[in-house]
Amino acid sequence: MFKAVLIEKDEAGQRVSLTEVSEDQLPEGDVTVRVECSTMNYKDGLAITGKSPVVRKFPMVPGIDFAGTVEASDNPDFKVGDKVVLNGWGVGEAHWGGLAQKARVKGDWLIPLVPEFTPEQAMAIGTAGYTAMLCVMALEKGGVTPEKGEVLVTGAAGGVGSVAVAVLAKLGYDVAAVTGRVSEGEYLTKLGAKRIIDRAELSAPGKPLMKEQWAGAVDVVGGQMLANVCASMKYRGVVAACGLAGGFGLPATVMPFILRGVTLAGVDSVMCPKADRIEAWLRLAKDLDPALLESMVQRLTMDEVIPTAEKILAGEVRGRVIVPIK
Ligand code: NDP
Repeated sequence: MFKAVLIEKDEAGQRVSLTEVSEDQLPEGDVTVRVECSTMNYKDGLAITGKSPVVRKFPMVPGIDFAGTVEASDNPDFKVGDKVVLNGWGVGEAHWGGLAQKARVKGDWLIPLVPEFTPEQAMAIGTAGYTAMLCVMALEKGGVTPEKGEVLVTGAAGGVGSVAVAVLAKLGYDVAAVTGRVSEGEYLTKLGAKRIIDRAELSAPGKPLMKEQWAGAVDVVGGQMLANVCASMKYRGVVAACGLAGGFGLPATVMPFILRGVTLAGVDSVMCPKADRIEAWLRLAKDLDPALLESMVQRLTMDEVIPTAEKILAGEVRGRVIVPIK
């Protein structure tokens, strides 16, 4: 038996508990991992509260991320004792996830843990941080260099935002951080933001084209904010869009794209090919100051996972939430 957060659903509705499950219940997979640390992302908040139908099979163990040690393997790429990381692939949605002492997955979904990080540090980064790195890589691919001008990060005090600010600042970009919590200004400045912008300034419906301000942008908010960000990009600027914390709509016009050559680059971490994942983790090992991770992290015990889900959805959690699994 091992401990797991379990989401069950029947005619009476959805129930979530911290419970004991048997190893026989683990799903199919060729690698079994002793989970050392997991996380709580926005999507885990949605899964646990049932506010959005992200869980596609019941019962389900949530947790879209984990890091741990291989306990059994029929996969030639992994042997017992290897340290591994998993992000996404529908784990915690369609396949049992990381908020448990054990996980069994397809070895193809795993990547080796880079030696620069402990399992806890890898989870302090988690899907949020690895997505932030994919966004930075998308800006670079689009030719956004520090000399081109200021870059904007929305939802900056959240998980993706915090890592994006830290990485971009370390790479030499001038980072403007948008937050609804100006009280987090000092935190964001310590991560490397040069300028803090109140969310309210970018939330109201704007014009199809506004003053050219940003060479690049990482947007986790979507909705009106993403429309306004696109309308304020400099000529040939690049917006990496990865989130919907403010809504999934996009009340925009084509004007920034056809008159300023702006690129809207979509970023998905879940089905991202393995080579890009490995590149993103190697880049994180090089371009993220691990000393900053501690300021971003809040640790929860497994008992605290369920009550924290609502807080994540309410945007009340700063930075990253990790769950060391004992
Ligand atoms: P967090 O909850 O940690 O952060 C989201 C941040 O967005 C909040 O901290 C807040 O920042 C801001 N925010 C929240 N609500 C609103 C609102 N109504 N309007 C404007 N800003 C708001 O989540 P993550 O950083 O983990 O994820 C951010 C988004 O990215 C989510 O939508 C998530 O689903 C998505 N995501 C997508 C991935 C992909 O593969 N495409 C992977 C990972 C995440 P502040 O307080 O600073 O304003």
